[in-house]
Amino acid sequence: MSGNNEMIRVEKLNKSFGDLHVLKDIDLTVKESDVVVLVGASGSGKSTLLRCLNFLEIKNDGKIIIDGEQIETKTHDLNKIREKVGMVFQHFNLFPHKTVIENVIEAPTQVKGIKKSQAIKEGKELLDKVGLGDKYDVYPSTLSGGQKQRVAIARALAMKPDVMLFDEPTSALDPELVGEVLATMKELADEGMTMVVVTHEMGFAREVGDWVFYMHDGKIVEYGHPNELFDNPKEERTKAFLSSIL
Ligand code: ADP
Ligand code: MG
Repeated sequence: MSGNNEMIRVEKLNKSFGDLHVLKDIDLTVKESDVVVLVGASGSGKSTLLRCLNFLEIKNDGKIIIDGEQIETKTHDLNKIREKVGMVFQHFNLFPHKTVIENVIEAPTQVKGIKKSQAIKEGKELLDKVGLGDKYDVYPSTLSGGQKQRVAIARALAMKPDVMLFDEPTSALDPELVGEVLATMKELADEGMTMVVVTHEMGFAREVGDWVFYMHDGKIVEYGHPNELFDNPKEERTKAFLSSIL
């Protein structure tokens, strides 16, 4: 599924940590309702790229254009941008001393100033949607990893983002819990959410991805539609990577 509107456009993005040049001239376009999957070996810069897209890391150079607007730290309130670009992490980062529904309403009430009663109503709908309609009032410690990750997804959705970024959302899960989280993500994709997903789940990439980008050493080596890239990689690097994981 793919609209014509460019939700994210990245041009010649560069990011270094001290002397370490981590992102090198990254170009990336994500259209509305696209699901873009980023793959690549550990250390290739995938997390740093996602973190630059919601300004948890600040680029050194290049352009990041979100929904038509070029975002710069000097001219934009980054908290506002982060409301538009939600993120889900490998380690769920839930507040352990808050219940599930309290986790979900925290940002809408504290950051957006939504009335608590309204936030609870919407939060419950989101929890119902991710299959946690019976878990509003429990604490995260009582949940499985898959359930925690679905809470984290609901919590990100509670800000009504235009884009969702997922950084290896199933990598910390026991294998039997991976499917329920991927199913939730697929549902979101089917509803037209624009998504950028870092994952090693190639089945998901094939089934749900519109595009797959392969990163190596801070560069995008190759991208294509999933079947094209997986079945007919053009670059030697991509071939080597795919044969190492498939
Ligand atoms: P990936 O997600 O593909 O595994 P990362 O984006 O996490 O890759 O890391 C890319 C490179 O940047 C690695 O060499 C990593 O050690 C380095 N790096 C990531 N974050 C930081 C940081 N905050 N400070 C210094 N180096 C970092
Ligand atoms: Mg990473």
